[in-house]
Amino acid sequence: MSHLPCLRRVAIPPGLVTADENRSWILAEKIKKSDTQWREQLSEMAYRVTRKGATEPRFSHIFPDSPGSFHCVCCGELLFNSKSKFESGSGWPAFYEPANRAAVSERVDFSFFMRRIEVLCEKCDAHLGHVFKDGPQPTGLRYCINGAALKFTPEESD
Ligand SMILES: [Zn+2]
Repeated sequence: MSHLPCLRRVAIPPGLVTADENRSWILAEKIKKSDTQWREQLSEMAYRVTRKGATEPRFSHIFPDSPGSFHCVCCGELLFNSKSKFESGSGWPAFYEPANRAAVSERVDFSFFMRRIEVLCEKCDAHLGHVFKDGPQPTGLRYCINGAALKFTPEESD
């Protein structure tokens, strides 16, 4: 585990001036809660997935195909939009890109004798799933995400 201060990337709010104008994010403090607090807040499945890195059984979460946004079940951060969601046939929700680049972080995961790229919520370090390079255009990426880590908010129709 890292002993660095608990910092995360956040998109630069409009109107804020930074020294490096090529940068699209700045650092802010991460959300930290105790194991007990996460356990109280989350369902058993959501806790095991997001805080313990478990993978939910296939087809445990089928989300509606309607327009909307997908938020972190732990901290509420916007992670994915329905416009980048696609049917991968894997049994887990799949997206070809996150809602914005600062919303998720990635790290190498060597578990189960595989080398995969793990995807985490940048704001609270929740385990979300993995990203693979066999997705559709325009990115060619497949974010294979546990439904238990997501909270779907339907778009409000006027
Ligand atoms: Zn989060």
